[in-house]
Amino acid sequence: MAFFNENYTKLSESYLFATIEQRVSAYKKANPDKKVISLGIGDVTKPLPKTCLDAMHAAVDEMGHAETFRGYGPYEGYAFLRDAISEGDYKSRGIDIASDEIFVSDGAKGDTGNIGDIFAQDNIVAITDPVYPVYIDTNVMAHRTVKIIPCKEENGFAPLPPSFHADIVYLCSPNNPTGSVLSKPQLEAWVAYAKENQAVILYDAAYERFISEDGIPHSIFEIEGAKSCAIEFRSFSKTAGFTGTRCGYCVIPKDLMLTAGGETAPANKLWLRHQSTKYNGTSYIIQRGAAAIFTPEGRKEVTELIDSYRENARVIREGLLAAGFSCTGGVNAPYIWLKCPKGLTSWQLFDELLNKASVVGTPGAGFGEMGEGFFRLTSFGSHADTVEAVKRIEAAFH
Ligand code: PLP
Repeated sequence: MAFFNENYTKLSESYLFATIEQRVSAYKKANPDKKVISLGIGDVTKPLPKTCLDAMHAAVDEMGHAETFRGYGPYEGYAFLRDAISEGDYKSRGIDIASDEIFVSDGAKGDTGNIGDIFAQDNIVAITDPVYPVYIDTNVMAHRTVKIIPCKEENGFAPLPPSFHADIVYLCSPNNPTGSVLSKPQLEAWVAYAKENQAVILYDAAYERFISEDGIPHSIFEIEGAKSCAIEFRSFSKTAGFTGTRCGYCVIPKDLMLTAGGETAPANKLWLRHQSTKYNGTSYIIQRGAAAIFTPEGRKEVTELIDSYRENARVIREGLLAAGFSCTGGVNAPYIWLKCPKGLTSWQLFDELLNKASVVGTPGAGFGEMGEGFFRLTSFGSHADTVEAVKRIEAAFH
């Protein structure tokens, strides 16, 4: 019998969404007349922008003709998309990221999960709590030492550079689940930490498009010196409804060097080697759809899409505040992070919301120890459902 990777036995079982499902099913069975509204979903609900669809339809047609048919594409993505990203997401904002520093992928989950492959096993990894669980689980699978950076309410849930040494740090801004964002001075402190510790920052900016306030960095590469100590991840999932379509990218600057056994190697080259070995590229059709996001019409549609989720976030945030809850997020992120009232645990609040308002959210305990006492609501539902859910919460808790 072959041996399995024992590190998998060290993963904490995630019962979060299964438990939510069970409790919601039991409630529905007992209350068949009640309409349950979920503000717990992390998936988008609005269809793809028409510009993206048209581009994908055209690409499908190209696949049907010998002259325009495409087989295997470049591992790192087609030039038309990498150029559009370099120009549209970086150069237009004054950030100098070249096309050959961009690697197109099938989304940020795979990228943030797989990037560990280019790092040695004995690196010390720092991870925030509360957290998007992929960062922890993939490092447990790789048997790395993981140290936790607690993100506390008094700091607006921003992770502060720790007093301990780490070789790799995962940061997520705008943050899932807390909805917080890192300011420029906070990111500067992280880049200074990375320089001092010769560490690499893995910067997950999957929700970058939700930033609405001026002065908040959209990219870690807005910070001087970050190009030699950071990798950035982005996704079209929440930006343009690509959760099922699958496309994202990561940026690995050519200045970022890693070391082993007295030798140095560019992280960019190591990742290209990784992708060419383990990945055969994102589908041409999907990349055409993603490139359409960067056209004037695509931009307009994406802005409308994001604005509609932002409006939901505003409704939730203002409704909760009016109902006497304390909450953060929802301004630069699609997530609202709510403090459980009256000392309730996050699962107790889950039950109260379900029983009193027929509304479903996500208990903070599911995102790590520091998430206990908090609760995540999302703005990805329909507008009518969001308004109705908030009304019910106000009526039940005010
Ligand atoms: N990073 C964060 C912080 C997320 O919340 C998610 C999805 O929920 C992802 C990455 C994954 O995004 P993708 O759909 O691009 O894989």
